[in-house]
Amino acid sequence: MLPDRAQVSTFLEDAAEWHRSRANEPLLRLIRSPWSGVEHDVAAAYAALGRRGGAILEMVERGQPPVPPPQREQLLRFARNARRVLEVPNGLDETALRRSIAEIFEVAEKSGTTPPAEALSGASLELAEACEPEPAGPIAPWRHHFSASSLNTFGECARKWFYKYACAAVEDPGSSASAYGKALHVALEDFHGEFPRPRRADEAAMRRRIREYVTWAFAASRDGFATAVEYKLQLRRAQRTAQRYVDWLMVEAKEAPFVVLGREVAASLEMAGRPFVGYIDRIDRDDVSGGIRVVDYKTGNIAMSASEYCEKVRRFRDFQLPFYYWARTAEGDRVTKLVLIPLKDALLDVRPIVLQVLPRSSASNNWGDACGTIGVDELERSRTRMIELSDRLASGTIAQFEPTKDSDACTYCAYAAACARRPAPERRRFGY
Ligand code: SF4
Repeated sequence: MLPDRAQVSTFLEDAAEWHRSRANEPLLRLIRSPWSGVEHDVAAAYAALGRRGGAILEMVERGQPPVPPPQREQLLRFARNARRVLEVPNGLDETALRRSIAEIFEVAEKSGTTPPAEALSGASLELAEACEPEPAGPIAPWRHHFSASSLNTFGECARKWFYKYACAAVEDPGSSASAYGKALHVALEDFHGEFPRPRRADEAAMRRRIREYVTWAFAASRDGFATAVEYKLQLRRAQRTAQRYVDWLMVEAKEAPFVVLGREVAASLEMAGRPFVGYIDRIDRDDVSGGIRVVDYKTGNIAMSASEYCEKVRRFRDFQLPFYYWARTAEGDRVTKLVLIPLKDALLDVRPIVLQVLPRSSASNNWGDACGTIGVDELERSRTRMIELSDRLASGTIAQFEPTKDSDACTYCAYAAACARRPAPERRRFGY
């Protein structure tokens, strides 16, 4: 289908503005135009990068982010043409300038002659050198390490994995939610450095010190919050959550005393010859049983119950705790519990989700909302699946990274602007 006449005229206007101003904005419009000769998805990805301050012509020439050969050819041709537009002498009148640009981009009438600029607004046009699209090639095999979170991303949306890991197309600037999470993790890491064994006798000191650690960690992350108000609100939320966290520590110290053995512990493990890495928020040892529990702090949405989390593991939607289990087991630990500590809601008591590790999964594996069991056989299935996924990603045979079918996954996706095939949002069920 031919682009409509208005698009042609707009394309030439944008190119003329690029010639005059050398500004980023008209260049971004140019690459997104059907007349740029660059495939829509690829153009959208580069435009998204350019909008965040990237110099797109240099990125094209460096081959960053990498794209398959046919699209790379299109990009290089576009970059060459865009640079040639800058070489058009200054001082031409608008008509001559447009004609020069039309020649550079081979925006020609069907007859093959270059139309005068005035005529372009009304002509029926097509690219002079239309060519058959080449067959799509596979994406280069993934040669780096794997992590549970990258496989979680792949499970959520393969296309998101492609944007985030394969082409690093858009640097996710983060949100106040991610800044909140990072700062609270840092505060708890420092806090447990000072208080590895929570005790009732230290309660007053713990409450005071955690307040200070949270204050310092948030001050160090100040740039992650867009406004002063947002910063203060999130800091207040973190302070309340931290006090609730100490409430929970006091109960735990009485009922199941423990000692913190490690904080932000590097986890690395080779599985089927491939390196997997990650960081474990905390590793505890139970005073009574001597068993090791692996703890993950969660400052975003998480499963509401042990059975919900187990279901995510079974459906291969979450690999984090299974990976930590295998990483610590390989280090010689007797891991008896996997724990998620929700730290999102300052208005709720801290109620961790605790999964006791059993040799085999059990049909009646829930003792309550927050407690349950998980079998080593389930953890083994999760490990097998991690290896299968890493095999696929390292094979270099994936030609298409399909978008998710779950539109909820797109709500906060940093790549949504570049993702032309994202699913349409579900219709609201309730009124505005
Ligand atoms: S916008 Fe949706 S479909 Fe597209 S990459 Fe993000 S999560 Fe996947």
